[in-house]
Amino acid sequence: MGLKKLNEKKYSIPTQLIYGKSLSEEWDFSHHVIQPMTLSTTFRLDSTKRGAQGFLEFAHHIEGEPAKAPIYIYDRLGEPTTDTLQDLLATAEEGEIAVTFSSGMAAIHSAIGIFLEKDIEIISHKTIYGCTYSLFTNWLPKFGVKVHFIDLKNEENIYSVLNKKTKIIYFETPSNPNLEVIDLKKIADLTKEINKKRNKETKIYTIVDNTFATPFCQRPLKFGIDIVVHSLTKHLSGFGTDMGGVIITRKEFQDLLLLFRKDYGGVLSPRSAWHISVFGLSTLPLRIKKMQENAIKVAEFLNSHHLVEEVSYPGLPSFPQYEIARKQMIDYDGNFAPGSMVYFKLKGKDPEETKKNGQMMMDYIVENAYTLTLAVSLGQLRTLIEHPASMTHSAYPVDEQIKRGIDPGGIRISLGIESTNDIINDLKSALDYVAESN
Ligand SMILES: *Cc1c(COP(=O)(O)O)cnc(C)c1O
Repeated sequence: MGLKKLNEKKYSIPTQLIYGKSLSEEWDFSHHVIQPMTLSTTFRLDSTKRGAQGFLEFAHHIEGEPAKAPIYIYDRLGEPTTDTLQDLLATAEEGEIAVTFSSGMAAIHSAIGIFLEKDIEIISHKTIYGCTYSLFTNWLPKFGVKVHFIDLKNEENIYSVLNKKTKIIYFETPSNPNLEVIDLKKIADLTKEINKKRNKETKIYTIVDNTFATPFCQRPLKFGIDIVVHSLTKHLSGFGTDMGGVIITRKEFQDLLLLFRKDYGGVLSPRSAWHISVFGLSTLPLRIKKMQENAIKVAEFLNSHHLVEEVSYPGLPSFPQYEIARKQMIDYDGNFAPGSMVYFKLKGKDPEETKKNGQMMMDYIVENAYTLTLAVSLGQLRTLIEHPASMTHSAYPVDEQIKRGIDPGGIRISLGIESTNDIINDLKSALDYVAESN
């Protein structure tokens, strides 16, 4: 019996994330229940003619031609285990194609990289992941690239910095660390409006880092965004064992991305790709549902605690962009999916005191809490808690942190899958300790 030729598209996305393609150009799965992990850095070529054809066809997809088995040459160009993961990631984001990278930062750099030219300008939201901010302020300017940081919560602000050199609009929603939500459709529509007056060379492209939401909770391409990037290191790999990154977008960018990756490097290891396919994506819906359940309860608990000044969680009706979140954070079944990340600030008479209270809470947690781990990163089975101002976002100068909504006393929690009450009890003990010490 040969391979089953099924129409997998008629099945739900969570089901497709377990089974993948029924018939693969990359690999024959007819007898493997779990896809094989292939670890060959180079590939035997049957003839010089086939070798030459492989190089010719690499990153030169011909529009309208039926897909055929790729000629694999060398890992950095492409190989079956990562190719299979790319199909799953494209399915998860409901995008046409995906290209994987060795880390989220490699993916972000490559998404920008394919548009990189001397003197282009980028418009970015004022609050983004610390290393992306560092890429935008320490490295890109050396190539003559200018980055404008504005508040994209109001899309009209784009006009204040827009000019002929604008090439990219870049943001995260919800943003890391403070969970600001940006209206995907409004930004995409406004960009399309501006692009009506531009040609192919001067067109502006929108790039969204969807790491915080995950494709389970939000799929920006559906709202008209051009390119989505993810750190696979977080919820998508899911178990805290592998680093990776991905770009998901339209087919028109696939060749450019593959060529960029070939020459700049930064390929994902097939070992990691295998883990992310087999363990990560297949369990994504299950994990996020439980984490989100915990996040909702924890956000409500924090919101009702007298020592907490403010809770930022898109699922709370008091959240400033709650209505926008309800429109765009939607899971595969059509339910509101505000995600598994929570950010909050403690009370204090001044920034010094809030920071001190935050640190006191963290230090108590380090010593006494079983279900809260002080660590950067997110999207793991264990609940992780961290202090962005001194950790993930320390690349921002202190006065810039406050201007950009990264409070000196702000605390970020990435919910895990523990029993809800255990997490809340650990948080409550820590808050009570701070209250008693004040
Ligand atoms: C972690 C993270 C990144 C960077 O990903 P790495 O895999 O660590 O390189 C980028 N963006 C966001 C929002 C992140 O949380």
